[in-house]
Parts: sequence; C-alpha cells; structure tokens
Amino acid sequence: MPLGLYISVPFCRTKCSYCNFASDVFSKAAYENYVARVLEDIGGAQKKATELGCVLPETVDSIYLGGGTPSLLNSAQLVRIFDAVNGRFTVASDAEVTVECAPGTLTPALIETLLAGGVNRVSLGVQSFVDQEAQSVGRLHKRATVLEEIARLRDAGLGNINIDLMAGLPHQTAASWIFSLSETVATGAPHVSVYMLEVDEDSRLGRELIAGGTRYHAHFVPDEEATADFYLQACETLNAAGIAQYEISNFARPGKESRHNLKYWTRQPYVGFGVDAHSMLPASGGSSVRAVRFSTPDSLDAYMSGGSQMVTPVSDHGALEESFFLGLRLNRGVDLEQLRSDFSSEPLAGCEPAIEECVGEGLLQRRGARIFLTSRGRLLSNEVFAKFLSEEGVAGTRSA
Ligand code: SF4
Repeated sequence: MPLGLYISVPFCRTKCSYCNFASDVFSKAAYENYVARVLEDIGGAQKKATELGCVLPETVDSIYLGGGTPSLLNSAQLVRIFDAVNGRFTVASDAEVTVECAPGTLTPALIETLLAGGVNRVSLGVQSFVDQEAQSVGRLHKRATVLEEIARLRDAGLGNINIDLMAGLPHQTAASWIFSLSETVATGAPHVSVYMLEVDEDSRLGRELIAGGTRYHAHFVPDEEATADFYLQACETLNAAGIAQYEISNFARPGKESRHNLKYWTRQPYVGFGVDAHSMLPASGGSSVRAVRFSTPDSLDAYMSGGSQMVTPVSDHGALEESFFLGLRLNRGVDLEQLRSDFSSEPLAGCEPAIEECVGEGLLQRRGARIFLTSRGRLLSNEVFAKFLSEEGVAGTRSA
C-alpha cells in the first residue's frame, strides 16, 4: 500500500485564541534550522522504521504540509522540503500534494513555488467569512482577501481547494453562520472541513470559557446547543449544494475527498516529520504486533533537541478497535464482512454487544454488512467510539 507523508510546520503569524495545536509564533530565524532538522529526519526515515520494527513503503501517493502555517516558509525552504521528499521517496505521478495556507500569505511568488513543487491542492484556514468573527479569534485576514486569493489560486490552475470553517466562534449567530456557508459554496471550492470550537484547557479561549471569563471575546461564544445546530446546518447546506459529507468534519464534491485524510481513517500507512507528527506503519513480518504508531515531541524545543518519540505497538485486537472508531468517522461506515476477513470472526463477535447497544440507542445504523453513525451518532461520536475501546486494546506506550 502506498504511503502518506505528513510534514509539520509549527510556525504561525499569530496564535489564534482557540488553537490547541503545537504551533506558535517564532522568529523567522528558527525556520531555517527547523527545515534542516526535518530534512535530516526524512533522510533517516528508513533507519527509524527498521529500529521500530516497521515496514516503510517506498511509493508515496499523498503529501500533506500542515501545521501551523507552511505558507510562512520562504520559497527556498519549501523547495528544499519538496526536493528532499522526491529524493528519498518515489512520488506517484497522481499523488495528492496539499499545503495548508493562511489567507493573506498567497502571493503570486508563493503560488509559483507551490506549483513548481508539485502542489495540486491547497487548504485554506478561513474559519469565517465574517470579518468580525475571524478577527475576534486573532485571524489576520478579511473576507475580501480570501476571495481574492481563491481567484488567484484558480487562475493559476490550483482549483482543488479546501476551506476550513469553524462553528462556535465568538459573535457567530445563525444568520452569520449561514452567510459563511453560502459564501463557501459560492467560491466553488470542492472540499470543506467544518470543526466545532473545542473548549478545553489547551487553548486560551478554552481556558477562559472554562473559567467563565470575558477575555478573548469568550462571553460572545455561542452556547453548545447553538454550535451543534450550526454543525447540523452545515451538513444540510453543504449536502444540498452537492458538497457531500463523507466524514464527521469533512465534505467534498464527488472524487474530491482528501486522499491524505482517508489514510488516517482507513488505517493505511503514513509517516509524519517535524513537531508533533504522527506515524502509523505496518509491523515487519514475524512481529507479534500488527502495526506501530509513533509520534515526535509536541514542542519545538524538545523536537530540535532530539527529544524522544512516543511509540505504541498496535496488537491485532487494538487494530480491530481502531478499525471501528476510525472507520465509523466515515459516512460509508465500517464493512463487517471486510473486518471478518481481516481479523477473523471471534474477535469481531466480541464487538457485537457494543454494536447492538449503539443501534438500540439510535447512534448506529446497520445496512447489510455495513454499520454507520446516524446523524445523532455523529454529534455524540466520542461516546460511540468509547464503547469500542477495551483495556485489552490499549497497548503500552513507551518512549524511544
Ligand atoms: S493559524 Fe492554525 S495552527 Fe496557527 S494558531 Fe491559528 S489555528 Fe493554530
């Protein structure tokens, strides 16, 4: 099976108040050393895979530069990354090559570099087409900039665009959300990702909401129920526009589903480079486990100083559980017949009680050999996934 590559670029122009990723604002002076370190890791990928007892496929059919804001790197730095990937791996001629870009960074020179590097898909962190909403969380772009840059990308032949939207931003109302959705549809972008604001301790806005304060416009954040309604509205509007939901947070016109993200949900091999980059590779023959997951440190300092990786072997049982809670994210759901042939009948029978319970609660639906989330199940997906996790499937994680 071909490999997916993820390259993390943890640099941003500002830190958005809701962001809980391992990204931050760093001096441009840090970019050069970081790129050099990522290149070193790309060159050492086979050695690392061998040390961990994994198989590293040679052919790559998806490359994803995310973060962070990869479009902050200069042309020479991006070219070095593309050259390193092409030098180390065989990149399929039809590979999907995506770069996440912040609106406001897509200069004609950058677009030229992306095209020269083989980029054929751009993901734009728009979040909202309402300027007040975008600005309230620290985004620097305006609606007009987004529209201008989408036109520039399309003129350059880069029409395969994803737009990220966020439900639950400060100041968002039902009317303003419908406006963002209709603007998104009007751009003609073939892929849309819709996320709901996460309220947790890992972002400034999340902490403020938990504390009940008013910083970061926290008191203008719609309540949970309104945010869930916005999500359902997005499903309805995008589906009606022919941008069909295919995963909990992802919508696409036919044939424009993200190949890269599908690898995560269908347990195909991928390897990540850079800060907080995750990998999953099949175990080599003769191993007692089915696969190995590993990830790099989630801070720039720890990564640059060679901090240890977290390594989690995935047993057969763990792989079966993953097939459920990752596969159920997809609208097409999970094919039980396929799982029976991949894992044999006995372990699958152990999952039947969880399936029955979810069907009984209206969270899952069966159609032939397939099971999939209902729309209520999609809203409560974490509860469904938890039912497929057992002590047995949780393999020990170690650092290496
Ligand atoms: S641009 Fe993206 S990665 Fe960077 S701070 Fe904002 S949300 Fe986080």
